[in-house]
Order: sequence, then C-alpha cells, then structure tokens
Amino acid sequence: MPAIPSNKPYRVGRSRTGLGLFATKPIKKGAKIVRYFGPLLDSRKEKDDAIENKYLFELTNRWTIDGSVRKNIARYINHACRPNAESDVKPRKRKVVIRAIKNIEPGDEINYDYGTDYFKEYIKPIGCKCVACEKKRKKQRAEARAQKARLKAKAERKALKQAEKQAAKAARKKPSKPAHANGKLLNGHAAKSATGRMAKSGISVKARGKPGGESRASA
Ligand SMILES: [Zn+2]
Repeated sequence: MPAIPSNKPYRVGRSRTGLGLFATKPIKKGAKIVRYFGPLLDSRKEKDDAIENKYLFELTNRWTIDGSVRKNIARYINHACRPNAESDVKPRKRKVVIRAIKNIEPGDEINYDYGTDYFKEYIKPIGCKCVACEKKRKKQRAEARAQKARLKAKAERKALKQAEKQAAKAARKKPSKPAHANGKLLNGHAAKSATGRMAKSGISVKARGKPGGESRASA
C-alpha cells in the first residue's frame, strides 16, 4: 500500500469493493482532500489516445489525466451514488481536486460520483456496490420477499376456498353412503326420504362452516 504522510487526513484501507480511501481525521465540508493527478494525455497524439485504463479522467475533449500512477492516492477513492466528496475539475488549469461536500468523520470512506459515462461503462454491468445501492437492493429484496409471501398466502386461501367449494359440490351431487346407511339403520322403512333430508342437512352444516374457515385463514 502507498505511503501517505501522517499529516494527511486519510489512509488507504480495505473497503467492500477492494481498497478504498478512508478519513483518519475530521474533514470539513468544502475542504480539499487530495488532488487527482497523473500524466496528461493528449487525444491528438495517437500514442496517448491508445492508452486505456480505469483511471482516465477526462478534462476536455483533448486532455485526459492518466490517474493510474501509483502516487495518485485519489485513484483509491471509490465511486458512490450518494458521495461525501466530489471531483472539482478545473479544465483550463488541467487540474482535478477531490473536495468534501459533507462533513466527513474519521473512519468514513471517502467517495465521489464517477459520473454517468464511467458508471455506464464499468459499474452498471457488474452492479454498483456503494452503500446507497446496497441499501436499495436490500430494500428491494425485502419487498420481493414480502410480495412472495403475500402471493403465497393468497394462493393458499384460494386453494382452500376451491377445496371447500369442491367438497360442498361433491356433497350436493351424491348422497353420501354413510348417510344412506345411517338412514337405513335409523329408519328402515323410509330409507329414501330420510337419506335425502340427511344429505341436505349435511350441506347446510358445511356451508355454515365455511366463513369460519375463511376468517381463520386471513387472520
Ligand atoms: Zn451506487
């Protein structure tokens, strides 16, 4: 890891995405943190234009800072969608300074927004791992789980209702055998009319039972 003078308010440390830059002292909102520097590349020069890496910081159509040099501590600063710092670009001076846009506490990771182009090219394909995006994903996962549970409960209620309907239908269609047998046992010489009555009473018992079952399922 690069040596950083102890008077600087930051250090390089492990972050969720590899290495990152962390505050070691309070940094006031608006304060300059570190310069983003490196060789200037001129897009009009073929050799310069051919250079490709993740640390290129475009200043203008013509000039780009190649921040991949080891001494450029600012290259350790990770992207965040809700950052506590920003890149203050002075194209004419060909200078970039990372500046705090919030009060930063010791231990906080320092982040700035890399901008739309970089985001689309390098971050979006693998998914942004900044705190705000992780939080959003967590919330979305919780919502998806809740939605799944709701749908499952709904499906279960529907299946229960369906089963009850089927049972009621089945009971209405054919007089059940036990009722028939009971009828015979109870009243031998008027078995048929007794069975009919018993079957009907069976349906009405089931029908009364239904609302109770529903309210239990939804509770
Ligand atoms: Zn993000």
